[in-house]
Amino acid sequence: MAPYLSSAAAPTVVQRSVCPHDCPDTCALLVQVRDGQVVKVEGDPRHPVTQGFLCAKVNHYPERLTSRDRLLEPQKRVGAKGEGRFARISWDEAVTTIAARFRAAAAEFGPESILPYSYAGNEGVLANMSMDRRFFHRLGASLLDRTICTTAGRAAYNATMGEALSIDPELIPHARLLITWGANPLSTNIHYLPFWQKARENGAFTIDINVHRTRMSDASHLFLQPNPGTDAALALGLMHLIVRDGLHDVEFLRQATVGFEALEVRLKEYPPERTARITGIGVAVLEQVARRYATTRPALIRLGTGLQRQSNGGQTHRAIAVLPALVGAWRDLGGGICGSNAAAAPLNLAALHRPDLMQGRPRTINMVELARVLHEAQPPIAAMFVYNSNPLAVAPNQNRVLAGLRRQDLFLAVHEQMMTETARYADILLPATMMVEHADLYKSYWHPYLMLGEKVVEPPGECKSNMEVFRLLARAMGFDEPAFRDSDEDLIRQALAGTQPRLRGVSLERLRQEGWVKLEIGPTPFAAGAPRTPSGKIELYSAALEGQGRDPLPGYEPPAEGAERTPELIARYPLRLVNSSAKHFCNSSFANLPTMLRKAQRPVLQLNPVDAAARGIADGDLVRVFNDRGECRLYAQVGERTKPGVAMAFKTWWSAHCPEGANINRLTSERLADLGGGATYYTNLVEVERAGAEAS
Ligand code: SF4
Repeated sequence: MAPYLSSAAAPTVVQRSVCPHDCPDTCALLVQVRDGQVVKVEGDPRHPVTQGFLCAKVNHYPERLTSRDRLLEPQKRVGAKGEGRFARISWDEAVTTIAARFRAAAAEFGPESILPYSYAGNEGVLANMSMDRRFFHRLGASLLDRTICTTAGRAAYNATMGEALSIDPELIPHARLLITWGANPLSTNIHYLPFWQKARENGAFTIDINVHRTRMSDASHLFLQPNPGTDAALALGLMHLIVRDGLHDVEFLRQATVGFEALEVRLKEYPPERTARITGIGVAVLEQVARRYATTRPALIRLGTGLQRQSNGGQTHRAIAVLPALVGAWRDLGGGICGSNAAAAPLNLAALHRPDLMQGRPRTINMVELARVLHEAQPPIAAMFVYNSNPLAVAPNQNRVLAGLRRQDLFLAVHEQMMTETARYADILLPATMMVEHADLYKSYWHPYLMLGEKVVEPPGECKSNMEVFRLLARAMGFDEPAFRDSDEDLIRQALAGTQPRLRGVSLERLRQEGWVKLEIGPTPFAAGAPRTPSGKIELYSAALEGQGRDPLPGYEPPAEGAERTPELIARYPLRLVNSSAKHFCNSSFANLPTMLRKAQRPVLQLNPVDAAARGIADGDLVRVFNDRGECRLYAQVGERTKPGVAMAFKTWWSAHCPEGANINRLTSERLADLGGGATYYTNLVEVERAGAEAS
């Protein structure tokens, strides 16, 4: 691509790119290159959603590109597992070794004993789900169920609305009531904020609902702080009041939904007094919010992602997703839900993944259960290939994951950008490119823009893209299908090919010319129902869920660890642990960079003064956080942002930067959520004790 901004007088060339990190915003970037090096990364002001500004993380991107932790050449382990001693080898030796170990594992235990492990460390469509899927399908490896983030909510939302589609974020300013529910956009979705502000200027009343008081809570007109894990009860209680007062939209319910009569019966279980007891939100506030929600138009809910990572996370998303249907909010421009638009880009995944290459019907491994699977799977996991992920930092029940990665009989290959904690356990380590060093196609899971990021600079050292690595591995394994000879351009064209109306007129050439294309999701996508559900309507009652043996109606189950379901556990571990996203990290990415670590300061545990005083803990004290799964040490931050009974940590600090080398995932469980096999990072009880005086 020719640079689209340049100055003949200046040696700096500016080229377009796209942020690949696991973040809803998927920013359009302008990359300044001088002498083949990236010197600055800025936002592209022409992009209608990301509007030319970036988060603190990517504003400092040259530091990441040139980090001293960057892997630049293939290496093999020469020390003990985890010791971090490696020797440089050639790509040829690396690929030949991996192929030999895969063959040996397949010969002894069958190809299912090989486990690919990846997530969204790189959100590029090609890097995330193209040549890698083809390779592991052809190999006959175990399939990976990529559940760590959004599958509970997706299963719930799909059962209700048919697909992961919500309103176009550019319509947010039309809302006159704007509820931010279970999200902290200042850390995780900053491009929501100008739209939120515009809605405010247009007269919107803003409500923030969060278990943790954030700066968004402070800035909103009203803040609700439910007890952790009770948001579904809150939604059901609000619906009870709306129906009790006859404020539901009878006409919309009749035309566009199924199951209102059954829902009405369920709602009787959530009178305001009971809802108040469960959620900790007073009856007067419940009455006020229900009336305001039902009588303000357009009413919009920004549905957060983290809410679903609980034992009742699927039903939590489902209960909230039903609210707009009850009041007919989908009829209005700017009303409904602003959440996932992952389905906005109907790419041709079959052409990318090539399931036809699959050997037999391999088993599926749920990635949340890695801690268990590494020890208990039959046939055993004999070989593992990690890419786009750092499981030792992010997977739950870290002690067991660690013990699994220490297994002497496990062969581990890691394709990575940085020397992560997982990478230190690799037998073979492969250096990976970053966003500006390869081309890729990007789709946001929040806004409906399909974007192209072209290669801007040559990779440093011997770094290779995921696509190149899996082509090399395919050749080393003797896979000679034409699918393994497709170029990156071929892959992009295949992803865009098909009969989907929304992709009509979208081509690689057009993306090259324009940088991005807005996909048509319509101003009011569910005004007349939900065309992709079995009934073609919004399903308040889901026969599909019933068929799976699930509750067909939105409901509330108390958390799997808590007073109602594990009274003996809460007697020993009385605090509910909440893991919030850290502002200066994106999952475990950026958490090794000096500038981000300086900004993040130190890993803290937020405690209410009541809980701190009861344990003799002062602000700044080093505390030991523990449960039956493990322990870690964090610095107490005592204040009113958390309720009594709640302990709040910021997730995905690398263990190396935590006191005594353990992060918060030592305490989290691999238990699955109620729907979609999702993770339950927020359903864990802990106890805290003082471990030392204030540390600087
Ligand atoms: S991490 Fe998110 S906000 Fe930051 S540049 Fe990337 S897409 Fe934009």
